[in-house]
Amino acid sequence: MHEVCVIGAGWAGLSAAFELTAAGVDVVVLDKARGPGGRCSTRRHGDFAFDHGGQYFTARSEAFADAVRGWKQEGLVAAWRPRIRVFGRRPSNPGTTPAERLVGVPGMNAVLKRLSARLDCRFGGRVEELRRERNHWLVRRDRGDEILARSVLLTAPPAQAAELLAGRSELAETASRVPMNPCWALMLGFDGPLDADFDAAFDNEGPLSWLARNSSKPGRSGEAWLLHAGPNWSRQHLEAEPDWVADQLLAAFHARVPSAAETTPALVSAHRWRYALAPAPLEQECLGEARQRLVLAGDWCAGNRIEGAWVSGRAAAAQLLEWIGAVDGLHGEPDQPG
Ligand SMILES: Cc1cc2nc3c(=O)[nH]c(=O)nc-3n(C[C@H](O)[C@H](O)[C@H](O)COP(=O)(O)OP(=O)(O)OC[C@H]3O[C@@H](n4cnc5c(N)ncnc54)[C@H](O)[C@@H]3O)c2cc1C
Repeated sequence: MHEVCVIGAGWAGLSAAFELTAAGVDVVVLDKARGPGGRCSTRRHGDFAFDHGGQYFTARSEAFADAVRGWKQEGLVAAWRPRIRVFGRRPSNPGTTPAERLVGVPGMNAVLKRLSARLDCRFGGRVEELRRERNHWLVRRDRGDEILARSVLLTAPPAQAAELLAGRSELAETASRVPMNPCWALMLGFDGPLDADFDAAFDNEGPLSWLARNSSKPGRSGEAWLLHAGPNWSRQHLEAEPDWVADQLLAAFHARVPSAAETTPALVSAHRWRYALAPAPLEQECLGEARQRLVLAGDWCAGNRIEGAWVSGRAAAAQLLEWIGAVDGLHGEPDQPG
């Protein structure tokens, strides 16, 4: 019996698990993927590596900026200073340019890899069922095993969280109402450098929304490009064949980097993010149901970015610590003998 079972080894799940473990709580982290990162993972294809989800992050809050300082000192995070272009019409409300674009080194998942190495993380098994028994949760994975825990922290994207909790918690209903935009990503590897006058571009016309020379980020090598299609295009072609999507996005890339049309990529791979970004996150750092000792967290709660996921995970840990402390005396006076 674990004290807490965290489902999801992304920013929310691992920041929570780290806080809980630091407070002396017994935590197990489960993820269906082969490694940590979630939507901020790094995909390898032979010699090429791609940040095919989260691209870079910023630090707005003092607490996150403080954590970033520590990761920089450890060499896990560095500033990325790409030459940026904007294609198409500039949005009427472009937002502020971040003081610093931060990336993981050598991949966006660097911090999460480090955190997960210090935690009890079990990968490669999808949680298929969550059932509240008398005073604990039974967590069943598709590997056939069952894990017992007094509390559960679920950090899956909202539609998946709602599906797992359907009929078991009132939080399922709240989660099911949080929309997520999809995103098709295309990874391109080339044998030699392309002639392009930018390292990253926002695209406000056509299928693409973002283009990045992944290898211009610190600690990367080779000539690797990562493209994201915009939410409307991605939604419209959500069920299309990956090869067809790759052809469309490659043609759009050629329109932006004409020199690329003169060479055949050594690698072309499309990836669909069905749940990529929450356009309208809840304004609550996490969702808790004390009676069942259940917490939901993720970027869709408090802010639809990496920092939001980190903030949400820490808020979830604080909520769990409060409950654990209240029941078990972890943070109160030790139980009196007798
Ligand atoms: C294409 C794209 C571009 C982005 N660009 C940026 C950017 O530039 N800057 C930025 O700040 N943010 C960006 N983001 C958002 C950022 O990646 C997320 O905000 C952040 O990674 C979310 O972390 P999380 O822990 O909330 O969720 P996730 O990373 O989604 O973690 C949830 C985890 O739960 C696991 N899981 C789900 N269901 C189950 C189950 N049943 N059983 C076991 N495990 C399960 C998943 O495998 C996953 O690892 C981008 C995201 C995408 C997809």
